[in-house]
Amino acid sequence: MAAPSAPRNPGMMQLVLDLRKNGVAPAIIDIMEKTPREMFVPQAFQDRAFENAALPIGHHQTISQPLVVAQMTEALELSDRCKVLEIGTGSGYQAAVLAPLCRRLYTIERHRNLQDEAIKRFEALRIHNITTRCGDGSKGWPEQAPFDRIIVTAAAIDIPPVLVDQLAVGGIMVVPIGDDQHDQRLVKVVRREDDTKITDLGWVRFVPFVEGEAPA
Ligand code: SAH
Repeated sequence: MAAPSAPRNPGMMQLVLDLRKNGVAPAIIDIMEKTPREMFVPQAFQDRAFENAALPIGHHQTISQPLVVAQMTEALELSDRCKVLEIGTGSGYQAAVLAPLCRRLYTIERHRNLQDEAIKRFEALRIHNITTRCGDGSKGWPEQAPFDRIIVTAAAIDIPPVLVDQLAVGGIMVVPIGDDQHDQRLVKVVRREDDTKITDLGWVRFVPFVEGEAPA
């Protein structure tokens, strides 16, 4: 991925320190340092682009908090052979962090405007291994299944069985679970031959996973 060399500004340096302090792996910090978060944040929030906070991106949605992006990325245990599915493209920031760590990323967003803007960012950053789709991610992407990894960036009520079905045996899914915005847990699901192994990774706060396509 062509990105400016880092560190580029004091805000980014502070963010890198925060990520380090929280034990994020150096390889992931390196990619986040090279991913210009300011490109994924609306004009009105430019001065906050390097805060370790979720920020509004329109349509009542948010770009995820950088530390959570790092933790979800790490939990996926990616390799350059992985075929990955993301539900909830949003700004495209999480996708841009995942793309250099995997073979191909498929990402679904229900709001067409958000999808269009994310595509422009991927093009500007010359990220070529992302395929996007506008629609309801609760159905997954059956034509491309199975996936080695699945990441859901909106909170589901329960682990979506359709997505577990689209996970390869040995594959990993990370998904925030909870029906209340103040009471969600990040869950890691490993699909095994006959069952799944579920690990709780702690508290998170995400916008809700909404079934069905967004109105045009
Ligand atoms: N990964 C994003 C975070 C976006 S917030 C980023 O880095 O910016 C979650 C996104 O999930 C929102 O854009 C929302 O529209 C989308 N979403 C929620 N439910 C969905 C569904 N069923 N299918 C597809 N996208 C969904």
